[in-house]
Amino acid sequence: MACLRDNFRQALVFLMIKSIFSSALLALAILGTIPTLLSCGEADKTKPTVNVQGKTMGTFYSIQVPGAFQGGAQMLKQTAEHEFEQITSVISGFDENSEISKVNASTDNTVELSEYLGALMAACRHYSEQLGGAMDITVGPLVRLWGFGADPKGQHAPRQDQIAQASSQVGLDKYEINRAEQGAYALRRASAEVQFDLATVGEGLGADAVAAQLDARGVENYLVSVAGASRSKGVNAKGQPWKIGIEDPTTPEHKVFVAVCPLGKAMSTAGSYRNFFKDPDSDRIYSHIIDPFSGYPVQHQTVSVTVIAPTALQTDALDTGLLVMGADKALSFAEQNDLAVYVIEMVDGKPQARYSSAFKPYLDCSTEQP
Ligand code: FAD
Repeated sequence: MACLRDNFRQALVFLMIKSIFSSALLALAILGTIPTLLSCGEADKTKPTVNVQGKTMGTFYSIQVPGAFQGGAQMLKQTAEHEFEQITSVISGFDENSEISKVNASTDNTVELSEYLGALMAACRHYSEQLGGAMDITVGPLVRLWGFGADPKGQHAPRQDQIAQASSQVGLDKYEINRAEQGAYALRRASAEVQFDLATVGEGLGADAVAAQLDARGVENYLVSVAGASRSKGVNAKGQPWKIGIEDPTTPEHKVFVAVCPLGKAMSTAGSYRNFFKDPDSDRIYSHIIDPFSGYPVQHQTVSVTVIAPTALQTDALDTGLLVMGADKALSFAEQNDLAVYVIEMVDGKPQARYSSAFKPYLDCSTEQP
């Protein structure tokens, strides 16, 4: 039942987020200025794949569309970057003019939210509750204290009293998201020191938004990747399932540890092996994945968690929380919720993988499309 409710809610949130941004698309389509796509049930092997890459959200994105995309690479790039700009204008902690930065800067404990941000924060809260608070968007003060936010500090572990102070503003009990009578979302928080960090879902939102635009244009085969979050559909130019590599956490040159076929689902990976610093006093390594309960970056041996699910918002929200939980708890959560999860732990200096039973079909890349 919970699974059903979750899918319904998630579809609701996803539709809400999609409808808010793609209403502009509808308007343009009515004006007849939207290029229609040559629909390609089978990838049109005679034409090269339309391939675009670029930078967004402080990281990289790439989009592959086998066959023709009318308006070509330029139109594809323009469409994608318009979506990324819209998302960044709402959730970027690196842009003081974004909506979430204005919420964080406000001295009010009750703040009205836009439809998009309200629906998104409500969805993040839902996933946070599912994970028992291991993913928690109030983690902003700790992210900044450890130097992983917009104003990176020196790479030293903060003092115990600073961690305690920042942690006092973190937790599910510090805020709620309500829908006022006239339907507007409102945030209520314990104090103005409760600060939100939505970085963990940014890339997933970007991948979902571009996938929604491609779906709206009738594109039947594509792969959209925004850093570690991806959406894929149909097949590649060779008519085979899209194959995405999970990185080997021990190789600086991003070698593939295992190839996975998401079979038309979203996939994202959270890792603690890329974004970290070594404290010069203690020689300890601290990553950007923060345990909201201890106030410290995760200290266990799980270094990478990959999730496959219907939307990249869901995979991106869950992967960080499951990484905080560590492999054993992440895999038991996955079995209880029939969730496809793949974890990599460092055991005696070597990467060791385990995965949930729901993940198995995605490892066999010859599996037929559902
Ligand atoms: P994920 O693994 O998906 O999430 C890790 C991030 O989530 C952490 O960085 C932290 O912010 C947060 N987090 C950590 N622990 C938790 C937890 N327990 N629960 C919830 N959240 C947690 N970076 C730049 O350098 N320059 C930019 O201009 C820039 N702009 C950005 C704009 C947007 C809209 C977004 C969303 C991010 C931006 N970033 C920018 C940050 C960067 O893109 C990545 O989000 C960040 O480096 C983490 O990447 P990741 O894939 O490892 O994140």
